[in-house]
Amino acid sequence: MALRLDGRQLAAALELRLRSAIAAGLEQAGRPPGLAVLRVGDDPASGVYVANKEKACERVGITSHGAHLAADNPADAVAAVIERLNADPSVDGILLQLPLPKGLEESPLLALIDPEKDADGLHTLNLGRLAKGESGPRSCTPAGVMALLRQAQVSLSGARAVVVGRSLLVGQPMALMLQAADATVTVAHSRTRDLAALTRQADVLVVAAGQPLLIGAEHVRPGAVVVDVGIHRLPPDPAAGPGAKGKLCGDVRFEEVEPIAAAITPVPGGVGPMTVTMLLVNTVVAWGRRHGLDNPLADLVP
Ligand code: NDP
Repeated sequence: MALRLDGRQLAAALELRLRSAIAAGLEQAGRPPGLAVLRVGDDPASGVYVANKEKACERVGITSHGAHLAADNPADAVAAVIERLNADPSVDGILLQLPLPKGLEESPLLALIDPEKDADGLHTLNLGRLAKGESGPRSCTPAGVMALLRQAQVSLSGARAVVVGRSLLVGQPMALMLQAADATVTVAHSRTRDLAALTRQADVLVVAAGQPLLIGAEHVRPGAVVVDVGIHRLPPDPAAGPGAKGKLCGDVRFEEVEPIAAAITPVPGGVGPMTVTMLLVNTVVAWGRRHGLDNPLADLVP
């Protein structure tokens, strides 16, 4: 039976590290780190995500500078809030919660965020820094995957890694991070021919296709490490009665793959909790850099 890569447990352990990093630097910095989560409109799922991020900030001692704008605000108004947060010396990280309401374009607004305060690590400059191996905020989800692999002492040097998905949010930075860790990386996408033949070559398989239950036993080499980034809610079981919620699942058929993999992330409780933790890591690292502190979290910035 596969080792479970437990993201909840690791996230809790990393929160303790974050608390002590903040405590150690507080006197020299003169203020706690600050994270601004900017929400536009009333997408209910975003509301839950933002609340989770704010709770996580509170647990570790990061001040939240939440800003919530109504959906009918023009791009100029959102841009003005981003500029204000860029200039605010008590804010170390800024996150624009996606998706934005219809009519607002993501890219130009994301580009306005000061790259040094880019808590999500998705600014063009920071993706470029990752590609060049320069330090900077890292994309949270793939950085969280790297932390899970490191915690489980998965050996990446020389390993064959396959990433399913090539989005700028997950697949591309994931491939760059695995490559920086000396894995030999192949990236698959929706046009890849014979996906199963390719993924069966992987020692480490990271699946971020956004396709519920895409990957089964036929895609996995026995003994491989499987990381499932996908998260989906299945339709509710009609037998469960009205109002029942469907179960959460990933891109991987967990029950099929767990018996043959060496290690696997569950959904929920695998990659998801790590994504939020890495947002906090980017914020605390940016705070430390602003105040000339040593970085005790360098191992978490792949
Ligand atoms: P995108 O939809 O942006 O990208 C999906 C990628 O998968 C694309 O590159 C696409 O190929 C590829 N793909 C789609 N179908 C297939 C297929 N059948 N075979 C091979 N490749 C395929 O998704 P994201 O990268 O944003 O997210 C991926 C998943 O991860 C989603 O389920 C999302 O909810 C989840 N997620 C989870 C997070 C967490 O914290 N747990 C954080 C972020 C995302 P092509 O480029 O050709 O279209």
